[in-house]
Amino acid sequence: MGNKALIDWHSMFMGVALLASARSKDERTRNGACIASADHRILGVGYNGLPRGCSDADPVYWSDQDEDPYLSRHSYVVHAEMNAILNCVTLPLTGSRIYATQFPCPRCTQSIIQVGITEVVWLRRKPHQARANEASLKMLREAGVAIVSLNEADAGAEAWVMALDQHITGTPGPT
Ligand SMILES: [Zn+2]
Repeated sequence: MGNKALIDWHSMFMGVALLASARSKDERTRNGACIASADHRILGVGYNGLPRGCSDADPVYWSDQDEDPYLSRHSYVVHAEMNAILNCVTLPLTGSRIYATQFPCPRCTQSIIQVGITEVVWLRRKPHQARANEASLKMLREAGVAIVSLNEADAGAEAWVMALDQHITGTPGPT
């Protein structure tokens, strides 16, 4: 006894992405991402949030009037994948893998490709973002970046991460 890990790598890295998502103050969608090297070192972690120095208490940043860029959170919130890339402690990211709680949007996909990440593992996909997801897929395929759902990669890891998700969402926030 004593030489079997409790969780596999997929569970660990998507678990870290999910834990990071719990730090997000974006009440519409909390996302997290974790970048791991081919030899299983964590290179960067991020969640969706405002740029440094922008006050979370300013309601302009969280506005939902998407027809007005000044009053749309999309102008302000840095996505989890982008923050994970920008938070990386080491470069280059060539050959690394990113674990993202949400299927990456086209803008993050551009950065994922440009920074040299070669595999994307995603947890959830928004049905109403189908065309945006197709745009991401088109670029990823042509760039030779592999993309799989966590379920496809490892159904056992997905079950473990979903149990962690239930634990997180059932946890009262910090007081
Ligand atoms: Zn994005």
